Amino acid sequence: MKFGGTSVADLSKMKGAALRVQAEVESGNQIILIVSAMAGTTDDLIGRVGQISSLYDAREYDAIVSSGETVTAGLMALILQSMGINSRSWQGWQIPINTTDDHSNARIRKIETGNLIEKFASGMQVAVVAGFQGVSDNSRITTLGRGGSDTTAVALAAAFKAKRCDIYTDVDGVFTTDPRITPNAQKLEKISYEEMLELASLGAKVLQTRSVELAMSYKVRLRVLNSFGSGSGTLVCDEEDIMEKRIVSGITFSKDEAKLTVVGVKDKPGMAGNVFDCLAKASINVDMIIQNISEDGLTDVTFSCPTSQVGVAKKALEQGKSTNNFNYSKLVEDKQVAKISIVGIGMRSHSGVAQTMFKTLGKENINIKVISTSEIKISVLIDRKYLELAVQSLHEAFGLEKALN
Ligand code: ADP
Ligand code: ASP
Ligand code: MG
Repeated sequence: MKFGGTSVADLSKMKGAALRVQAEVESGNQIILIVSAMAGTTDDLIGRVGQISSLYDAREYDAIVSSGETVTAGLMALILQSMGINSRSWQGWQIPINTTDDHSNARIRKIETGNLIEKFASGMQVAVVAGFQGVSDNSRITTLGRGGSDTTAVALAAAFKAKRCDIYTDVDGVFTTDPRITPNAQKLEKISYEEMLELASLGAKVLQTRSVELAMSYKVRLRVLNSFGSGSGTLVCDEEDIMEKRIVSGITFSKDEAKLTVVGVKDKPGMAGNVFDCLAKASINVDMIIQNISEDGLTDVTFSCPTSQVGVAKKALEQGKSTNNFNYSKLVEDKQVAKISIVGIGMRSHSGVAQTMFKTLGKENINIKVISTSEIKISVLIDRKYLELAVQSLHEAFGLEKALN
């Protein structure tokens, strides 16, 4: 069982979570309870780090930012003990959850199960594990990226071959789109691992992308449930387990996008390679790409990347002029964009999905700046000010406001 930040925001919410844990214990289950930091705590800690310096030591960032989860784990263990439940808190390094040393964005490599199994065998009923944390080979604390407690939960479920992995959050489950943006979004009873992976990686923060990847690889029975409600939530499962397949299952968006256009690049073989080579060397996370029609032997190359990387990308391109054998006349940046994506396994077998998407946006007078597609998703970059209108009109165009499943 994993409880997110809003579900453990204060002691009374923690007690509510503890009652759910108690019910599972009473049904004869042994529980690994993964907890997030109390709502707002991680943001607050990150803010403090940033106040010291914008160029900080990532190892200390992790030491600081991981502490929110440590506090919740201890408090939850105490609350459970006060209810007569045999429980103990565990930090990432105590299990240990071994990770790479990519501080602030580490990946889990190995989870030791022996310590907890021994404790369960000697009477422990609930192991409260601080989410988000791991430990590197250098014995430094690491963190798993924003939203990383989801990944702790799924990874532990896989390592311990748990019956289920229940992720408790502040909405009823996975919706056709963010219910906070589109009030008539519908909760999905089931969603395939593949669709959930696309939704998560394209911006739906309800599950961290890496957690879905792990659930898919290890076939973890993953549910998303509301901490404050009683519904059945959403089951993330194999495509074959979903009877009624829809063309589009969900719409998602990301505001953390910027568009850069490299104007006047020579249109000849190898140029795109030279441009993107220098961006790759600067670790720029290039997402969508278009190249305009060439005129007078010159072309414009447009790409999108996270807003936070614009400065580094511009610097890399400027330096690339001398190191990477290309030239351009100017760089045009646009930070006021958003990416909207529609996702659905039904796209594999249905034509006309792109047409519906583009026509719908056209009808609302929303200009499409960049397009990218994969087998089960179509993404477009638009002006950020139209984000809500775009999501809502696409939601309607694909009939998602009607009850599904
Ligand atoms: P937690 O703190 O429990 O980990 P998060 O804030 O990380 O919760 O994730 C839950 C939030 O994800 C919801 O409050 C909702 O606004 C947002 N969200 C975005 N897209 C979706 C979606 N398609 N379905 C459900 N929630 C979504
Ligand atoms: N507390 C961390 C964050 O806010 C991890 C998590 O909640 O999943 O990103
Ligand atoms: Mg989360």
